[in-house]
Amino acid sequence: MIEAQALWRRHAAALTEDIGYREAGCTYLCADDAEMERRTRWLEAARSYRLGSRLLSQRELAARSGAGAAGFRGALHTPDDAQAEPALAVPALAHRAARLGAELREATAVRTLIRSAGRVTGVVTEHGPVACEAVIPAGGARSRTFFENLGLALPQLAIRASVLRTSPGPEIAAGPNGTGAIGAAAASIRRRLDGGCSIARAGAARFDLVPAGFRHFAAFLPMLRRRWRIVGLGLGRSCFGPLGRQRWDGADRSPFEAVRIIDPAPDAPLLADVMAAAQAQWIVLATSIPTEIRMAILPRCPGPACPVSPASPCKAIRGIA
Ligand SMILES: Cc1cc2nc3c(=O)[nH]c(=O)nc-3n(C[C@H](O)[C@H](O)[C@H](O)COP(=O)(O)OP(=O)(O)OC[C@H]3O[C@@H](n4cnc5c(N)ncnc54)[C@H](O)[C@@H]3O)c2cc1C
Repeated sequence: MIEAQALWRRHAAALTEDIGYREAGCTYLCADDAEMERRTRWLEAARSYRLGSRLLSQRELAARSGAGAAGFRGALHTPDDAQAEPALAVPALAHRAARLGAELREATAVRTLIRSAGRVTGVVTEHGPVACEAVIPAGGARSRTFFENLGLALPQLAIRASVLRTSPGPEIAAGPNGTGAIGAAAASIRRRLDGGCSIARAGAARFDLVPAGFRHFAAFLPMLRRRWRIVGLGLGRSCFGPLGRQRWDGADRSPFEAVRIIDPAPDAPLLADVMAAAQAQWIVLATSIPTEIRMAILPRCPGPACPVSPASPCKAIRGIA
């Protein structure tokens, strides 16, 4: 995250367009002593990284976040935690890449890799082959499916989490750069540049069982043990959906063309509950209306790094950066 912040600072300074980059901070509200204790342990573990994070007492929190935070025991606050607006940042970065000589091909699925003598020499797209010396995999939640098709094991599973967006409203907390992000068990909030909020319940997710779930079960067991209360398990059609096990080659229509964007229905009852919790906590949200609800597909790896399995032949394929 430290490296990510350095990169975003550099990009925000180099881009001609405004991407809404601001270091507005992030505040994790603690409901009780146990949560405060957990955040304290995290802070101690992170001390060597010299982050700006610190614990806020109940009084400091009330001064910063007002009456909405009154019921909380304290908070973990990181003043230089940053955010940008995805809808501004993505096109701005794409324009800059193009100005620097990159060629961008939109709505073009990469079906598979072309390999020769143990190294990558190109990719097959739905519109034909493209020669190259290196490939950077960046397929998000669909990366595992892509690599599975090549006989490689990427321990990545996707979960579904629901999120809502509200109509514009006033600031929630009084930071120097605006509200920042506010994390709490019932409802976590990010106030966007347009004044509306993105609100979700952190960790409330659903995992739809796919064949890879069995293959990578052992790797994910520690995470499941910690989170079994909040991760729901679904069985059914997803096994045969875009994240299920499939095989194709460069001549076949790939799953990335069959389903270009995975956009399942959000969990409306959960989001109604999340919105009610947010409004009960923050009086300024009383007049905000949910304007959009979405289901987010989020890739999950068992640990901080997400390596292609060492047991797989991946190391033998040079050219995968
Ligand atoms: C609603 C929502 C809210 C979020 N909020 C936050 C937040 O507040 N803060 C935060 O840090 N993160 C947030 N995230 C997570 C964040 O968006 C992701 O971690 C991030 O987008 C991952 O970036 P990525 O480039 O790895 O993958 P993605 O953004 O998923 O991009 C992968 C791209 O590759 C394309 N692709 C896949 N396979 C192929 C193929 N074979 N050929 C061609 N193209 C392919 C996909 O179509 C997609 O466009 C949120 C996610 C969602 C969905």
